[in-house]
Amino acid sequence: MNKRVIIIGTGISGLAASLRMRRKGYEVIAFESNDYAGGKITDFQKNGYRWDMGPSLFTLPSYIDELFELFEAAPRKYFNYHLKKNICNYFWEDGTRFSAAASQEVFIKEASALFNEDAKTIKKYLDRSKLKYDLTAPLFLEKSLHRKETYFSLATFKAFVNSYRLHLFHSLNTLNRSVFKSEKLVQIFNRFATYNGSTPYKTPAIMSLIPHLEMGLGTYFPQGGIHEISQSLYRLAQAQGVQFHFNESVEQILHSNQQTTGIITNIGQYPSDIVICNMDVFAAYDKLLPNLKKPIKTLQQERSSSALIFYWGIKKIFPELDLHNILFSQDYEKEFEHIFDKKSISSDPTIYINISSKEEGSDAPQGCENWFVMINAPGNYGQDWETLKKEVRQRIVKKINRILKVNIEEYIEAEEILEPMTIESRTYSHKGSLYGASSNSQFAAFLRHPNFSKQLKNLYFCGGSVHPGGGIPLCLLSAKIVSNLIPVNK
Ligand SMILES: Cc1cc2nc3c(=O)[nH]c(=O)nc-3n(C[C@H](O)[C@H](O)[C@H](O)COP(=O)(O)OP(=O)(O)OC[C@H]3O[C@@H](n4cnc5c(N)ncnc54)[C@H](O)[C@@H]3O)c2cc1C
Repeated sequence: MNKRVIIIGTGISGLAASLRMRRKGYEVIAFESNDYAGGKITDFQKNGYRWDMGPSLFTLPSYIDELFELFEAAPRKYFNYHLKKNICNYFWEDGTRFSAAASQEVFIKEASALFNEDAKTIKKYLDRSKLKYDLTAPLFLEKSLHRKETYFSLATFKAFVNSYRLHLFHSLNTLNRSVFKSEKLVQIFNRFATYNGSTPYKTPAIMSLIPHLEMGLGTYFPQGGIHEISQSLYRLAQAQGVQFHFNESVEQILHSNQQTTGIITNIGQYPSDIVICNMDVFAAYDKLLPNLKKPIKTLQQERSSSALIFYWGIKKIFPELDLHNILFSQDYEKEFEHIFDKKSISSDPTIYINISSKEEGSDAPQGCENWFVMINAPGNYGQDWETLKKEVRQRIVKKINRILKVNIEEYIEAEEILEPMTIESRTYSHKGSLYGASSNSQFAAFLRHPNFSKQLKNLYFCGGSVHPGGGIPLCLLSAKIVSNLIPVNK
C-alpha cells in the first residue's frame, strides 16, 4: 500500500527529507507557508542586481550530490559548483590585509610570514582540526545522538578513546590563545565559532574542527548562486513526484493514541502515516502541538546569533575584495558580549562582505558589484530595530570608509535591509536565529531536540533547530538521519 509522508516546510532540510522519503517509496506531500521552496535559502533582484538573501558560504557539496545520486541522476547535469582557491580576504583597522588561500601549504607559509607565527604551530593546529573532524563527524553529525545503537559503534569507541584530544572542556578562544602568539591569527581562528552562530569565548574548543571544513575540504561557489542549491533540489523533487502545496500553512499536527495521524492547514485536513516537521522546533511545539508536553529544557536552550544584513548595489568594482571578505572589529570579545549578553550590537562590529558577482558576473550590472554586508546580531528580543538599523548602518559605512579608503555612500545605488525580526517572521525561526540553538556550552550537542518525537510515534524533526544543528550541510544531515530512522515503504 502507498503510505503517505507529510513534510511541514520546504527549507533545505524539508526538501532533502522529501527526496529521501520519495526514494523510500512513499507518497510525499510538502506544505509551505511561503510561495517558494528553500526557506532561508532564497534570493531577490532589484535595479539589475541579484542577491542571495541568506547563506553565502557553501561547504561539503557532496551532501547535495548524494540527493541526485539517490535517483541515479548525474549531479553535474543538474547542479554545478567550483572550488574557491582564495577562501577569504581579511582586513584590520591598522591596515593589515591577509588573503587566506585554500591550499594549506600556501596558507601556512603566508600566515606564518605575515603574523610572525611558527609554520609548524599552524600546521599542527590544522592537523588537529582534521583529526577532531574525523573523530567526531561520524558520531555527532551523521547519527542520532538519541538512540542507544549510536553509542555501541566503532566511531563512538574511537571518539571516546581520543576524547582527551577533543578539547571539550575549555573555550575555543582559550585554546586558540594557548596555541598562537598573534592576536590576529587568534581572531581568524576564533571567527569559526560564528559558523554555527556561537561565541568563541564560550563555545567549546572542539569547534576548532570547523577550519578543517574550509581549509581541508574546501569552500565552493554554486553556479547561479546559493539560491541554486534549493532550486535544483526543488526541481529534482518535482521531477520525482513530490507534491508541493505553497501558500499553505500547517496549523496543527493531528494525533491519537500516541501516533500522528495527519495535519490541519489553513485550507484543509490531510491524513498521513508519517509527519516530518521542518518547522523550527520551538514554533512547532508552540503552534502545531499545543496539547503535547513541551521538552522545556531543550526548547529553552540559548539561541544562536541572528544577523543584520544590508544588500547594496555598488556602482564600482573593488579589486581588493573577493567573494568572502571580513573587516574585523578591534574588540572581538566586546562584540560577542553585546550579541549574547546585552542583546545589542557593539560600537565596532565585524563586517562580512559577500560579493557573488565576483563569481557570477550577471549578478550585477557591468562595472558594478552586489554587496551583501552582514554583521552578527542578537536574536529578536523586542529591540528597537528601526533605530538600531540606522545606527549600525552609519557605523558600517564609517568602518568601510576607513578600511577601504573610500566614500562608500557615493556608490550605493540600490539597498534592501534584513533584520532578525523579519528572518523570524519569514521562516518561523525562533528569535530569528540563523542556526537554531547556539553551541555555547559543551552539552549543546546533547541538548538539541532529537530527530524524532519521544511522545508521538511517526513524528520526526529535521532542520537547523534540531540535531545535528544549523547550516546547510548539517540540515542536509538531519534529513538523512530522519530517513535512516524510517523503514522503506514496501
Ligand atoms: C542571513 C543568513 C545567513 C546564513 N549563512 C549561512 C552560510 O553562509 N552557510 C550555511 O551553511 N548556512 C547559513 N545560514 C543558515 C542556513 O540558512 C540554515 O541553517 C538553513 O537554511 C535552515 O534550513 P532549514 O531546513 O532548517 O529550514 P528553513 O530555511 O528555516 O525553512 C523552514 C521552512 O519551513 C516553512 N514553515 C515553517 N513553519 C511552517 C508551517 N507551519 N507550515 C508550512 N510551512 C512552514 C518556512 O516558511 C520555511 O520555508 C544562514 C542563514 C541566514 C538567515
